[in-house]
Amino acid sequence: MLVMMKSHATSEEIDAVCRKIESMGYKAHPIPGITRTAIGITGNQGPIKASLLESLPGVGECVPVSKPYKLVGRELKEETTIIDLGDGVRIGGTELAIIAGPCAVENRDQARTIAASVSAAGARLFRGGAFKPRTSPYSFQGLAEEGLEILAEVGRDFGMKIVTEAIDVESVDLVEQSADIIQVGARNMQNFSLLRRVGKSYRPVLLKRGISATLDELLMAAEYILSEGNYRVILCERGIRTFADHSRNTLDLSVIPAVQRLSHLPIIVDPSHGTGRRERVIPLSRAAIAVGADGLIVEVHHQPELALSDGNQSIHPSEFSQLIKEIRQIAGVLGRTVATGHETPV
Ligand code: PEP
Ligand code: MN
Repeated sequence: MLVMMKSHATSEEIDAVCRKIESMGYKAHPIPGITRTAIGITGNQGPIKASLLESLPGVGECVPVSKPYKLVGRELKEETTIIDLGDGVRIGGTELAIIAGPCAVENRDQARTIAASVSAAGARLFRGGAFKPRTSPYSFQGLAEEGLEILAEVGRDFGMKIVTEAIDVESVDLVEQSADIIQVGARNMQNFSLLRRVGKSYRPVLLKRGISATLDELLMAAEYILSEGNYRVILCERGIRTFADHSRNTLDLSVIPAVQRLSHLPIIVDPSHGTGRRERVIPLSRAAIAVGADGLIVEVHHQPELALSDGNQSIHPSEFSQLIKEIRQIAGVLGRTVATGHETPV
């Protein structure tokens, strides 16, 4: 059930409703909206008596939730959530969030070289795995703590926000110290203990769609995170497994408007894992922005042929500049913007 507060309800009234909900043994999730605050209730097994809450000062109405998810749905919050990372970097607003960088952090020089080029082109967020979930245990697994240190340095020196993956519960403590956004990878979309742990984090979470996950499963995975109190979740379409064998994955761009109809969470697209092939990254990026995605996460490498992971799908910095030029024009048609780049010496 959702408790819709009146538009002029005071913060004391909102607190009092939350306390009442908690005294009933449930968890209260106050979510401020533009016109009014809605309070989601979780932890109840059966229906809740609306009359117990409707009589409290400041309460407008109590509405039952028709969907299996309570906190990620638009029923709770009509407008799209904007995740503010500070320094003017927001995800879900007018400006598109462009996250770019290598699949994996390989060494300091590699990370700095790529950061300099993507930031000059207009990316305000830097990606790079320090912990890599690899299909083979013999493939490069990432630099772990050393990789996180390099990422933190890149963030400071290039004025970029850092996105990196936590592959298990144990790695979250370290990742949340160095990263601005914790990525939960496709293979972990239903790792429920990891979802609960990042749900307790003070960092926003980038949740990638599982390789065979339905839209409802993606939203329910996000619900795990919100139910623990972390409302700052960004969804990511990164391609799913289908019978199509011309592409590493099938990038399901039709999920973008479908998610946007149901959920207030921002959603971005990963055209790199979505296609697996360098020459398809720009065309699918254009399509992703045209369909209404809130941003992109793109793998870029200055020497893709030498990359320790995902070289085939990593675009060159010059191609990334081209990508930005093209999506800027498409963004303009939709009333959205892309940040202008700035040069920072390597
Ligand atoms: C990645 O971003 O490098 C990655 C491993 O992504 P995914 O979880 O989507 O495969
Ligand atoms: Mn990768």
